[in-house]
Amino acid sequence: MSFDRSAIPAPTRLELEIDDDVAHAAFRQQGLRTVVANMDDPFTRRAAQSEVAVLGYGRNADFTDWDTMCITYAENRLHLMNHIGFDKYMSAELTKFVSMSVEVVEIPRKGLGLRATRDIPRGQTFVVERPLLTCMGTMDPYIGLNFDKLIQKGMSPEHREAYYKLHNCKSKASGMIESLSIMRSNALAAEWAFDKSEPQRAVFEITSRANHSCVPNATYDWSFPHFTGGLRSLVPIKKGEEVTLSYTGKMFEPASERRAELLEQYAFECTCPSCTLSQDRQKKSDARRVALGKRYALHREDKFFDQMRIELGYDDSYIVETLNMCDAEGLVEQRADMMVAYAQFEAMRANLTGDLTRAEELAKRAIKEIKKIGFRSLWEAMDEIVEKKKTADGGPKKPNLLEMMKHMNLEQLEQLQSGPSSSTSNPRSVLQLRKNMSQKQRQKAVEKTKLILQHMLMVEVGAKVVRRDF
Ligand SMILES: [Zn+2]
Repeated sequence: MSFDRSAIPAPTRLELEIDDDVAHAAFRQQGLRTVVANMDDPFTRRAAQSEVAVLGYGRNADFTDWDTMCITYAENRLHLMNHIGFDKYMSAELTKFVSMSVEVVEIPRKGLGLRATRDIPRGQTFVVERPLLTCMGTMDPYIGLNFDKLIQKGMSPEHREAYYKLHNCKSKASGMIESLSIMRSNALAAEWAFDKSEPQRAVFEITSRANHSCVPNATYDWSFPHFTGGLRSLVPIKKGEEVTLSYTGKMFEPASERRAELLEQYAFECTCPSCTLSQDRQKKSDARRVALGKRYALHREDKFFDQMRIELGYDDSYIVETLNMCDAEGLVEQRADMMVAYAQFEAMRANLTGDLTRAEELAKRAIKEIKKIGFRSLWEAMDEIVEKKKTADGGPKKPNLLEMMKHMNLEQLEQLQSGPSSSTSNPRSVLQLRKNMSQKQRQKAVEKTKLILQHMLMVEVGAKVVRRDF
């Protein structure tokens, strides 16, 4: 589709109005609107909606402060203020809960990091907190230039102090605006139900302190209903152990690639167990991650939906091999992800086969994986598959024979003994049915399955929370 550039208004001057006389509380209470009319690139983002709002989300008990400073598009302002948790004061309880689980301490050779202050079982959410700051995923350069000013005006003194104490991976000599650089060093992804045009970025006082590992023992979650982010354990974490999560999207690439990315983006050398192996073992680990990556990538590529896979599905030996590779690399979250993808694939394939038996089996196995790491949202998706199978079994296709026999006459009972009925829940009948489908009908069914699968997995991948590059 061509785009008529001449129709775009000429770039206008930035008008970021920050009135120095407006007190901090008033500034945030009003959800101050600033105008950023920079329309020189209609492709980068929502040029037509160039007004920006800065407001506080959540009020604490004395109404003098808000938990989170939000920099967002002006049209999101009311959505935020109408959010169900907006008036809830959560900080005190949450802070207490979090302080029972972790502490911010000096980690040898890494600077500050998080350390568990109690034994944390696997699959437990052990850090929950409101962000200090959220801002839009695509930063308008003018907002960037005025970032310090916005923080100064929009954040409470306590939060501001906590914010400026966070790690800054760029040196002051780099000339980068400090507050912006802190945001880039510490931001995690957040998602707002009312604005899915791009992910939000969220900076946390505690969660953002977790250092990186290519074999992380925790993962980051964002909860829109609670307007909180936090950490969930992927394996049991012992008291005194460092809490880590993954910053990189290159978990399936060789150590050299991961290390190069982390050095460039976050300015540190990764010394995690997976990056400091002996030469021989590193080679094997790299090969395993790359091979696993190819399987993982199938989720996002047409190959996952190719004719052969839709016809045959993924067999157990293939699936077990995948899971074993994840185990060897300590990739706990990815192990569950893969199992879920196989179950979802099989559930969709049932559109073609008419048989949910395999889907149910894989869904039950996926539920086990999910339970281990407390990944509730995926758990529900898997439960749905199991329920679907139950409904299919409970329907008229597979009646309770004993119950029916009570009401049968002699002739019907004789018929029952003489052979299987033509019920479509019988797998043999399904095969028969498929044989009877014309080439065209089959092709149509395959196409439909492909489309549904692609859509589902895109939603899945889109919902994934990873640290983003910016
Ligand atoms: Zn590493």
